[in-house]
Amino acid sequence: MSDYAALNPRERILMGPGPSTVPSRVLRALGAPTLGHLDPQYIGYMDDACQMMRDVFQTENLLTFPVSGTGMAGMETVVVNLVEPGDEVIVGINGVFGGRMKDNMERAGATVHVVEAAWGDVISDEAMAKAISQHPNAKLVGIVHAETSTGAHQPLEEISKLVHDAGMLLAVDTVTSLGGHEVKVDQWQIDAVYSGTQKCLSCPPGLSPVSFSPRAIERMEARTTKVKSWYLDVSMLKNYYIGAGGRAYHHTAPINMVYALREALAIVLEEGLENRFARHKQVHEMLRSGLEELGLKYVPEHSLHTLNCVMVPTGVDEAAVRKRLLEEYDLEIGGGLGEFAGKAWRIGLMGHGATRRNVQTLLAALKDCMN
Ligand SMILES: *Cc1c(COP(=O)(O)O)cnc(C)c1O
Repeated sequence: MSDYAALNPRERILMGPGPSTVPSRVLRALGAPTLGHLDPQYIGYMDDACQMMRDVFQTENLLTFPVSGTGMAGMETVVVNLVEPGDEVIVGINGVFGGRMKDNMERAGATVHVVEAAWGDVISDEAMAKAISQHPNAKLVGIVHAETSTGAHQPLEEISKLVHDAGMLLAVDTVTSLGGHEVKVDQWQIDAVYSGTQKCLSCPPGLSPVSFSPRAIERMEARTTKVKSWYLDVSMLKNYYIGAGGRAYHHTAPINMVYALREALAIVLEEGLENRFARHKQVHEMLRSGLEELGLKYVPEHSLHTLNCVMVPTGVDEAAVRKRLLEEYDLEIGGGLGEFAGKAWRIGLMGHGATRRNVQTLLAALKDCMN
């Protein structure tokens, strides 16, 4: 007899910076029979998932697939495939995730030029234009669309024009925006993009949807050095995910996670992108007015709908409030990260969790726990 009790996780309301609450349809898909990774039936499901990813990214990019790993693996995939040692690149940093992009680029051998903005602000078009003119040899510009550490919502359209007018490529982190905010990969001419499953797609963590434009493919095909990572080398991965003339084994795909992602994307597309974005906006506005009534101030001027970062009032023990929310209400919110550790709360309204019911529950619970 084992001493381990049966697995019985509590059903929490997940309103932190991810993971978000997963709908039962997605959990059922995860429990479907495991097929072989070369089984034609499985390949059909995988192809469906790739097509749905194109629809959600709003792109025609053929090279669109789920990296086996969480959002950080998507970031690393984009970086190691587009950067060669000695390349100059530009990275926008206004929070934790821009800083991680820089670290990844440096590990891949790039010389990184940083464009900074204060935590909570977005990277301005002027600052980006200046960096591009100062570093005309840069090949790639990396930026975070939804900076989860501060809640800032980065506009991309103007920056994309600046980047392409200078002949550079644009790589974007959409981990906390995809499925909650508009992400128009083709219209905004994003060359490489990655996301995660456990934020606004409301799927468990484990995969990272990525997509590469034809310009990014040209760049990868022109490489003179091998990609530094074997596992994340797109030149090999594409023969499995996109392989027109049969599928070549590279690593065993996380079959059941792909089922779950396919189901999660089906839910997104059933709701419709526009309806889904409107729902996120509506519940964000409802939360915002409720939090402001409680005297809480938003950190960013341009706030995401999906991640609401507010300063903790002086005299309130932020960790104690989060502990009570978890213990007494089964409700999770996030604390501050980096510069905001101990100073801010991060409240996620992501995918399945972006509901009026959750907003009202949180507002009432927070009011109670702050007293
Ligand atoms: C969560 C997040 C990541 C990392 O994703 P993991 O799934 O934790 O690996 C990257 N970028 C942003 C903006 C995120 O919010």
